[in-house]
Amino acid sequence: MLFWSSLLVLFILPSIALCAEDFYKLLGLDRDASDREIKKAYRTLSKKFHPDKNPNNEDSHTKFVSIAEAYEVLIEPQTRKIYDQYGHEGLAQHQQGGGGHQGHHDPFDLFSRFFGGSGHFGHHGGERRGPTMEAQIDVPLRDFYMGKEMQFTIEKQAICSSCEGTGSDDGVVDECSVCSGRGHRVQRHMLAPGIFQQVQSVCDACGGKGKTVHNPCTVCHGARVVREPETHTLDIEKGMPRGVRVTFENEGDESPDWVAGDLIVNVQELDPSLGEEDHEKTDGTFFRRRGNDLFWTEVLSLREAWMGSWQRNITHLDGHIVQLSRPRGKVVQPNAVEVISGEGMPIWNNDRSNDSGDEEYGALNVEYVVILPDTMASGMEKDFWNMWEKWRKKLAVNLWDDSGRSKAAPIHNEL
Ligand SMILES: [Zn+2]
Ligand SMILES: [Zn+2]
Repeated sequence: MLFWSSLLVLFILPSIALCAEDFYKLLGLDRDASDREIKKAYRTLSKKFHPDKNPNNEDSHTKFVSIAEAYEVLIEPQTRKIYDQYGHEGLAQHQQGGGGHQGHHDPFDLFSRFFGGSGHFGHHGGERRGPTMEAQIDVPLRDFYMGKEMQFTIEKQAICSSCEGTGSDDGVVDECSVCSGRGHRVQRHMLAPGIFQQVQSVCDACGGKGKTVHNPCTVCHGARVVREPETHTLDIEKGMPRGVRVTFENEGDESPDWVAGDLIVNVQELDPSLGEEDHEKTDGTFFRRRGNDLFWTEVLSLREAWMGSWQRNITHLDGHIVQLSRPRGKVVQPNAVEVISGEGMPIWNNDRSNDSGDEEYGALNVEYVVILPDTMASGMEKDFWNMWEKWRKKLAVNLWDDSGRSKAAPIHNEL
């Protein structure tokens, strides 16, 4: 008998080792991953491969089960150590020898410990969903231009991991004896002889939960939930419009009584200000954005606007230079707008499949403002005056005639 069973083990073990995928690989983790990273990976992957989201897909169902298994092995220091040293084979032996917990939790039960409810998404079964949580994140224009992966932390109500949402220190939860687990009580009041009124009220012994706990959890004090910071990664894609709403599925407030709702992050543009670092000190910081276009105001002196022969280097949001210039003799009219195509915002495509191709950009619109001098040195003023006098007599250009208005007009607007 003993002989046969050990022979059986010999046959079974290699087949387990062959078909089981590496737990770290499965969760997309390095071998030195922290507990936080393991939890995070489980949160992300279990949602992705949940059977509710992939109906009739046997592969993702298998993956969902494997992810739960990998999580449970790696989150427990003892089983993780065994797995690190001896792999799947070692774990199988450990479980056969009766070490640690026998078998595995139901993967849906594990899911519900993270996201509440009964382990399902609630889209199908009409399960109660928690409230949607909203947050706003302001990012500088530079991040909309270049794209950025940023971390943010938000505080939310989380299922107490110490008691796994039971509220009990020893895991013992009793049915409330007052309401027999119903959470409410029905009382009969006699209004008049033979006439009764039934009044239903929330059971005050258990607060409507239908359950009581003798030894409340020391972490959540029986509340089953705690307030906890949760860190998320927000992927700001190049050219995303301001006001875009990014959904983090099931990352809202958690409770054992419902399936966690979504967290929706509203991405807005931060008011421009010069940053601390060099790459943040660009002219582009002060570009204004409308859709795919950028706007910039450039100031020219009277001499530059009129005579030409000038050059400007504008540092764009990513630090590259956009050169503006005019050769001598090229006039720029006040408030003229120069449209420089290809120097606006990257054109955002919600369809990620287009990410690989060449990026398209909007235009940069440069408006020229011409500043006339308020005062001049007296010698300079005299020189200019005399020059005007000389040339207006010679040329006698009459703008009034050109405008086609009546000759009787009293004022002559000359060069
Ligand atoms: Zn009760
Ligand atoms: Zn607790």
